[in-house]
Amino acid sequence: MNTMATEQPYLKNAIAGVLALEPYSPGMPIDELQRRLGIDNAVKLASNENPLGPSPKVKEALAGMINDSDIARYPDGAGFKLKKKISEFHGIEPERITLGNGSNDIIEFIARVFLGPGRAAMYSAHAFAVYPIVAQAQDAESVVVPALPEDHPDMPFGHDLAGFAKALRPDVTVIFLVNPNNPTGTWMRPDEIEAFLKHVPSHTLVVLDEAYQEFLDPSLRPDSRAWLDRYPNLIVTRTFSKTYGLAGLRAGYSLSHRALADLLNRVRQPFNLNSFALVAAEVALGDQEHVTRAVELNASESSRLRREMKALSLKVLPSQANFLTVGFGRDSSPVHRALLEHGVIVRPMASYGMPQYLRVSVGTPAENTRFLDALKDILK
Ligand SMILES: *Cc1c(COP(=O)(O)O)cnc(C)c1O
Repeated sequence: MNTMATEQPYLKNAIAGVLALEPYSPGMPIDELQRRLGIDNAVKLASNENPLGPSPKVKEALAGMINDSDIARYPDGAGFKLKKKISEFHGIEPERITLGNGSNDIIEFIARVFLGPGRAAMYSAHAFAVYPIVAQAQDAESVVVPALPEDHPDMPFGHDLAGFAKALRPDVTVIFLVNPNNPTGTWMRPDEIEAFLKHVPSHTLVVLDEAYQEFLDPSLRPDSRAWLDRYPNLIVTRTFSKTYGLAGLRAGYSLSHRALADLLNRVRQPFNLNSFALVAAEVALGDQEHVTRAVELNASESSRLRREMKALSLKVLPSQANFLTVGFGRDSSPVHRALLEHGVIVRPMASYGMPQYLRVSVGTPAENTRFLDALKDILK
């Protein structure tokens, strides 16, 4: 037990899982690094944000809201307009949509509704850091399925769905799959995922986290919308934080069976999306050309980064997302620190159990060049 809890007796009553929790570490903010180094041109390639920012249409819509008396009023707690837009976009009834303050919010709802003592969440090793946090905060167990091995010929550190199937136990109430996965960038083929969905018993909820879905090559992109009708125990989560460039506003959503959406809504705080987020998300969804620009920039810059890092004899994991995870064959923290000294922030992977790796988000061409120049300087 931590010392604060012994000094403050009431803290002993906190949920045991929360007391033992390691807080999520968001990494160094760009302002902090700039203050430390006394520079004003640091680059942050650490959180998989959209280097193009949001759609110009979003900026225009938000600017128009600044002087609007609407800010003094509560937002539309039902998110009617945004849900209508999402409903049209996916061809799904609004009753099957749940809005989240980021898709992280949705993951929390799922945990609150389905996890607790005597229950377990199941997810892959080296998957999104939020799953273990929400499970532990509910005093639930975690079944962590080992990832495919580092020397796997096609998908090192990928999700091992055969391993998931084998490790399934009756107390698992929620299975988290991420496609493509953060922090590895690895992906699963649609036919593999569907075979797994067929295998999972209908009383077990499967969460398919598609935060990076737009970056998948079209040939690898599952029709998860169609699966929802065949597998009522499936919920698909999407976010406006990545391709849509709205990470700072916090908006995400899920598609599911309407009965599940109804349950999730019961634990949702009534106004979980603010007025700006609701408008921004609605306008962003309507500008798919901006998404295409982001995806195209990512494709060309991602292959340049991959090529140049391979030329430095580094191990670059296969990725269908907007980041590359790169192995140094030794503890990567000296490289991480040296990059910081060069004014470049990337994401260390030690907390994900991959201490030899760093994750680099794909930035603008200029940002990527800064990163590559720094890396070459450090490794020379
Ligand atoms: C970024 C990310 C999310 C989305 O986070 P938001 O709360 O929507 O900003 C969800 N899942 C994964 C795997 C992510 O990397």
